[in-house]
Amino acid sequence: MKFPIYMDYHATTPVDSRVVEAMLPYFSDVFGNPASRHHQFGWKAEEAVENARGALARAIGAESREVFFTSGATESNNLAIKGVAESYGKKGDHLVTCATEHHAVLDVCRRLEKQGFRVTELHVDQYGLVDPEDIRKAITEKTILVSLMTANNEVGTIHPIETVGRICRERGVLFHSDAAQAVGKIPVDVQAMSIDLLSFSSHKIYGPKGVGALYVRRKSPRVRLTAQMDGGGHENGLRSGTLNVPGIVGFGKALELCVEVMTEETARLAHLRDRLKQSLMEKLEDVFLNGHPERRLPHNLHMSFSGIEAEALMMDMKEVAVSSGAACTTASPEPSHVLRALGLSEERLHSSIRFGLGRFTSSEEVEYVAGRVAECVERLRALSAGSTPRKAGRRAVPAQVGERE
Ligand SMILES: *Cc1c(COP(=O)(O)O)cnc(C)c1O
Repeated sequence: MKFPIYMDYHATTPVDSRVVEAMLPYFSDVFGNPASRHHQFGWKAEEAVENARGALARAIGAESREVFFTSGATESNNLAIKGVAESYGKKGDHLVTCATEHHAVLDVCRRLEKQGFRVTELHVDQYGLVDPEDIRKAITEKTILVSLMTANNEVGTIHPIETVGRICRERGVLFHSDAAQAVGKIPVDVQAMSIDLLSFSSHKIYGPKGVGALYVRRKSPRVRLTAQMDGGGHENGLRSGTLNVPGIVGFGKALELCVEVMTEETARLAHLRDRLKQSLMEKLEDVFLNGHPERRLPHNLHMSFSGIEAEALMMDMKEVAVSSGAACTTASPEPSHVLRALGLSEERLHSSIRFGLGRFTSSEEVEYVAGRVAECVERLRALSAGSTPRKAGRRAVPAQVGERE
């Protein structure tokens, strides 16, 4: 076993060596600009880009010309939502989204709100699921877009995308889905799911960072998008800027590999994930599952450990890379908006850990992590029991344990 152990595959993934190999020729050998129309260097680069575009399109049930390259899912979300708002602003001023979306959706909606659009942010149930009927009710004559992620990046909950897509189609409202956590992991089909715009990203599927894509439906309905980047008119005018050829080649290869092994990999990871959960539940009292018991990503486990601070737990087992549901951008970590939206108790909010398994996770690692988490949780619980007896909760852990170095 190699240390540290990586169990944070929702944050990013290592680039698969086969992907690196596929990318290498496109740095110095086939280095042309795909926009160079008058020589072989350009043609060869263009061919590589179009091959990758084809692979991406096939993976989601789209046509090549409906796939546009961006710098990642953040940019794709921006382009989709702002692009629709700008193009359809005359038709309506209302958007529908959900409280558990990624910031790359929520903050875009908030900016549009400042510019005069109205946004309905739907609530979710205790498992992080949106009720499709709430979406139906939220749609008005003025609604131009519904944006709902396929699967949640924190608690792993998978939304009823097909049903939501059908509702949007019936009501004539465009449907965007942030599928950064879903594409390459679970089946995503823009036809079956009636998706009009789909964001996805390379670095979540064992491809390089800094590349993503946006699917934009061309017919029934044909989506009109206003470009958010002005310049040379690349990507059919939708996204100017010289294409990241090695990155795009890697993205295509990475998604091909994911699709190839999806069925077996889903089963393998779900099995490992369930073992991790079982093991933790056997070893420890007072642990709780967050997110949906069944409708969740196969590689996602999100649990609360009563009486401990997630931050303290992570400090205690530095050789294991996991994530808490806290935004660690500030000195005092605040529980994420996603966990808040599930309506968890204050104590549970602060004692939650996300385990993200992936392609290189082994059963030995799962065993080790289960043992280490149990050991650290016991230790921290004993520590807080030994300190001033207080109700188990946020302040139960002595301050110095949770403090950063
Ligand atoms: C990672 C992620 C993003 C951001 O993707 P980038 O490619 O890093 O910009 C957006 N949405 C979700 C759900 C994600 O998991």
